[in-house]
Amino acid sequence: MVRKKDKMPLRASTTTLPKSNRSNTPSSSSISITPSPIPQQIDVSNFSSFRARTPLRVTIIGAGVAGLCAAIGLTLTGHTVTVYESVSSIKEVGAGIQVAPNAARILDRFGVLEEVVRDGIALERNSLRRWEDDGEIGWVGLMPGVGKKYNAPLLVIHRADLQRILLNRAHSLSIKIHTGCPITAISPDFSTPSIKLASGEWVTDTDLVIAADGIKSFVRSEMARRMGVKDETVSTGDAAYRVVIEEERMRGDPKMRALVKGNMGVRWMGPGGHIMAYPVRSHKLYNMVLIHPIRPHQIDTESWTSPGTKSEMLKTYSGWNSMVKQLLSYVPDDQEVIMEWTLNSHAPLKSWREGRFVLIGDACHPMLPYVAQGAANAIEDAGVLSVTLGMISSAEKIDDALRVYEVVRKERGEAIQASARDTQKVLHLKDGREQEERDRRIRESTIAARGGEKKGNPDLWADLRWQEFMWGVDVMKEAAERWSELTSPPPPPPAPTPSGMSSSAHIRIQAT
Ligand SMILES: Cc1cc2nc3c(=O)[nH]c(=O)nc-3n(C[C@H](O)[C@H](O)[C@H](O)COP(=O)(O)OP(=O)(O)OC[C@H]3O[C@@H](n4cnc5c(N)ncnc54)[C@H](O)[C@@H]3O)c2cc1C
Repeated sequence: MVRKKDKMPLRASTTTLPKSNRSNTPSSSSISITPSPIPQQIDVSNFSSFRARTPLRVTIIGAGVAGLCAAIGLTLTGHTVTVYESVSSIKEVGAGIQVAPNAARILDRFGVLEEVVRDGIALERNSLRRWEDDGEIGWVGLMPGVGKKYNAPLLVIHRADLQRILLNRAHSLSIKIHTGCPITAISPDFSTPSIKLASGEWVTDTDLVIAADGIKSFVRSEMARRMGVKDETVSTGDAAYRVVIEEERMRGDPKMRALVKGNMGVRWMGPGGHIMAYPVRSHKLYNMVLIHPIRPHQIDTESWTSPGTKSEMLKTYSGWNSMVKQLLSYVPDDQEVIMEWTLNSHAPLKSWREGRFVLIGDACHPMLPYVAQGAANAIEDAGVLSVTLGMISSAEKIDDALRVYEVVRKERGEAIQASARDTQKVLHLKDGREQEERDRRIRESTIAARGGEKKGNPDLWADLRWQEFMWGVDVMKEAAERWSELTSPPPPPPAPTPSGMSSSAHIRIQAT
């Protein structure tokens, strides 16, 4: 059994921004058109010593995971950050969230991983099971192996605990967070970073606005309008119940208590839906996310949440195995209203930035939770912006920082978004030939993994190669390493010499 105090590697490998490429260094006959110094090297594993070359004033809309992480990362590197959040009290729904290694290594640099490890649970494995009879189809090993492989742990934690840890860190850094402060308008001219508060007051003393305003992003819809694109909600066809069951309610039921006391996640796959379940909060709560097709009244609703009832939930899962039904029987009856989330998405945007505005988190890559990467990718956004905004030599170069952010993040974020959609189809197959084939491949890949072999798993969350892409890429390191390449203009065509020979002289911008 893995205990939280067991030593697990927390730090990602040391990376330094490559020194100026010698072959690109201007020779005595070359002309450098920018006098700005070569940017400082950034060692992302020693992030605490990295300081922005030009401290900026940054405004963030939204204090969810994306907004708080961006605020922390940017404040740590020397920028002055102000956050505006519409709700008056920042709290999360009672449910769990997985913190994958790609997020954990960034949370470490932001100084919060130790607390997340303390309050989270390192699952040893995830069991993939059948809906009807609870039979195990396969499983995937998690901690401590994943922690060793990716040099960062994989944890599950109560969302409220993650939110509290991030909020405390933000407060300890004296970040100004204005709650009960919805943003109602932004400057129509995107090149002027200004936002309007509900009071009617305009905030203009800022160099950049980061929109971390979630899946219903108001800034994204304004951006889409400017780009001439319709910003439409796309229904994924799925809805989710999120429940947490107190361990105390399972006393006298050894089978159920074993689930909440164990270090295992369970994924039950069934026709049209699946259930993801694992313990949280020191094994005192059992977290369940129950996915099923949306109901007719939820179609075309932008409301996102709607009240459900325990009886309706029991009816939805009445054909599922006795473990599931037994677990659901422990959901309190007095929890009259069980919230049901419709899972929506948005078509990918042409760009995540416009002038002095940039989107992060669910505002630009809302994704189905089936590869457990929505928040992890929001944390990646925050990590990359913390690197790129630290590299520029003046506020006039903000566009360079946003461009590099977009190059490093957009394609990757959208690929992970697409993989969650693909996984939806795989997890929700009706019993029949396709499902049998899926189960056969899951079995084979489980056996192969035991022998150290990577065989494709149709459940991409459990697929060892896709895990390497999701969990193994260090986006902050990539942003630092590619900075020079992405901000240097291509060399101009060789100038003709009097003799007709091309000159070796070239113009190169060293840093922006
Ligand atoms: C069932 C389910 C399970 C999931 N499980 C996982 C998981 O295991 N791992 C994982 O990584 N991800 C998971 N996710 C995804 C993850 O929850 C989201 O991707 C993540 O929370 C998005 O964070 P965000 O900060 O971008 O958006 P949000 O959390 O939505 O935050 C946006 C904030 O902006 C504020 N806001 C909005 N408009 C305005 C305005 N006009 N003015 C001021 N403030 C405003 C909102 O009040 C809110 O606080 C799951 C999602 C679901 C639905």
